[in-house]
Amino acid sequence: MNDTRSPFSLSGHRAFVTGSTSGVGAAIAIALAQAGSDVCLHGHETTPQAKDVLKTCRSSGVQAELVIADLLRRNDSANSLASEVDGVMPEIDLLVNNAGIYIDVPFLEMTTQRYRDTMRLNVETGFFLTQYFARRWVGKNVRGRVLFTGSINGFLAEPTHVAYDASKGAVAAMVKSLCVSLAPLGIRVNSIAPGLVRTPLTDAILATNQDVLRWMELHTPNGTVPSATACGGAAVFLLSDAAEHVHGQTLFIDGGMSVWQQPDLPT
Ligand code: NAD
Repeated sequence: MNDTRSPFSLSGHRAFVTGSTSGVGAAIAIALAQAGSDVCLHGHETTPQAKDVLKTCRSSGVQAELVIADLLRRNDSANSLASEVDGVMPEIDLLVNNAGIYIDVPFLEMTTQRYRDTMRLNVETGFFLTQYFARRWVGKNVRGRVLFTGSINGFLAEPTHVAYDASKGAVAAMVKSLCVSLAPLGIRVNSIAPGLVRTPLTDAILATNQDVLRWMELHTPNGTVPSATACGGAAVFLLSDAAEHVHGQTLFIDGGMSVWQQPDLPT
């Protein structure tokens, strides 16, 4: 009999989404659950919002679990986190490396610790989580799928974002390298690159300076700074069968900002 499921359906899959207790990760986890995937959420601390995200995912009728791990406080963070995930939701076949931080200060004031923390969470954790699950998938003949949350900042620079920009540039390069390493083994790796979306990470900046919001709206062709839910559909697509021949790509979710050479002056 023909499979009549939508190619966008994720039913029967099990996803692990790092940094999914708020913001972009939460939006991705909820969208995956709505598409039918079981989801294992992760955050660095238990918050009321984390429990809300868990509840919202479960309301789609899928299994949803939560693991808490501060990835900057452990010696072997990626591996210990992955074993914890195995304990609550074995057989993960979709991995979303989303957890990330922006803790930059002007370049001349950057400390080794801030730089290392940025690289550890934004780059190293995703690298080794992917290795952990890819080893498993290859051993069990699972055609796993990996999605990274990169950023427009991996491609376009900002003067006060030196460590963050470097980390997201590394993610963009890593997605291509992992593609050519893992595609022959049946594993798909892609990424999304959001522009500015409203999350706790960015609300703090927008709250202190309304000019930032106005500047962003002026420099974005569709004139919009959306909520993080704008990222959910792209994640579902890239992890679904509908994207079966899409490998090593970065999908920008930025209202067209990355292709606009010269915004109009305000009228
Ligand atoms: P957020 O602050 O809303 O969420 C961050 C998530 O990461 C939370 O679940 C948090 O628990 C987790 N996290 C933070 N520190 C951690 C630590 N030490 N150990 C483990 N987990 C930790 O942020 P967000 O805006 O949703 O950002 C999520 C991702 O999206 C990041 O990779 C970020 O670079 C990327 N991104 C965001 C934007 C934006 O405009 N918000 C734009 C482009 C890319």
